[in-house]
Amino acid sequence: MQRVSSRHIYTGRVIDLRSDIVRADSGREHVADVVGHPGGVVVVAEDQGELLFVRQYRYAVGAELLELVAGTLEPGEDPELAANRELEEEAGFHAARLTYLGAVHSAPGFCAELLHLYLAADLTPSRRPQDDDEGVTLVRIAPAEALRLAASGRIRDAKTLAGLLLYQEHRRAAARGPGAGTDRPVDVVAFDVDGTLVAHPHGKVVWQILMERFGCDTSVSRERFAAFRAGRITYPQWVDLDVGEWVKRGATRDAMVEAIATHLALSPGAREVVQELKARGYHLAVISGTLDVVLDVLFPGHPFDHLFTNRLVFGADSRIASWQATPYDMDGKEAGLRAVAADAGTTLDRCAFVGDHVNDISALRLAGLPIAYDPKHESVAAAARVVLPAGGLRGLLALLP
Ligand SMILES: [Mg+2]
Repeated sequence: MQRVSSRHIYTGRVIDLRSDIVRADSGREHVADVVGHPGGVVVVAEDQGELLFVRQYRYAVGAELLELVAGTLEPGEDPELAANRELEEEAGFHAARLTYLGAVHSAPGFCAELLHLYLAADLTPSRRPQDDDEGVTLVRIAPAEALRLAASGRIRDAKTLAGLLLYQEHRRAAARGPGAGTDRPVDVVAFDVDGTLVAHPHGKVVWQILMERFGCDTSVSRERFAAFRAGRITYPQWVDLDVGEWVKRGATRDAMVEAIATHLALSPGAREVVQELKARGYHLAVISGTLDVVLDVLFPGHPFDHLFTNRLVFGADSRIASWQATPYDMDGKEAGLRAVAADAGTTLDRCAFVGDHVNDISALRLAGLPIAYDPKHESVAAAARVVLPAGGLRGLLALLP
């Protein structure tokens, strides 16, 4: 799906509206009206065996609805901080413990809103002043009764239904495994980089960024990818061609660092998730066709035990002196995962792999817990057991206790 044109129509307090013309893979064009939204949080707050809800009149639907505590993210706001802010403003409580339950698209047919759902526990009355929105009433309902209200159609708010479902599953999992923290099924968590730990607003990877930065013809990249796929060039030859071109154009480390820092960023929550998984005792690996300089720039001091990427060596003049292609991209990711498992002294069925694209499929097929993050192709989602949406990397913390 390709955007042909985009017309901005309206910017409001929370949303904006644009009308795009998009071209499908079949070549057909159609109009896509899109509501832009900064995203939000939903809080399943548990207090003394009951869940907290708010009852409020919703002007847009012309009815009073029973909903979980929820709110919109401020620009750049950490969803976890937003969860407690909303809990304090709407319900008057602060949670000492927040557990990430997952993320949902509220209305993907026309709206970009992504909601992060949290379970809030260990509540204490908040000192922060509550919103004095008239007509908002706090309601306490036992979980079983809330599920009955949902099943009988008396809860009709989508994010609230999603929150109740994920809450119920979370409780079931906790009941199944009281020793889940000590006997967990995964020892190794291996990550892809571009598109997974690292994001670009339009899905570009570092290779495209640097081809553009050094003025290379980007159509050549597509031809090389096709040549690799067809077996006419090997992966190291492909790396040689691309890096060789940057060398010819006088590429320096400083220019690369600047291009990476300008165009790429860690995915939302990536740093927090990786550090927390490390703290929980997982063996962490990167198995990626990215360049080592990407993590040097975006995640200095990262805690990965294994780093399998393409490597560049720079001379004293900051120019590229040599390079080494990773044997572990594309179908080689499978061998990379085997190597990491062997080194960690574990088996492949106790490895999780997190990736976004078709070059991750060989590793996803092998891993005991294959996880697709923001999958770029349906075959990637099909190879995974769990699919996390874009922006929902924190979902790993619920999957990996
Ligand atoms: Mg990727």
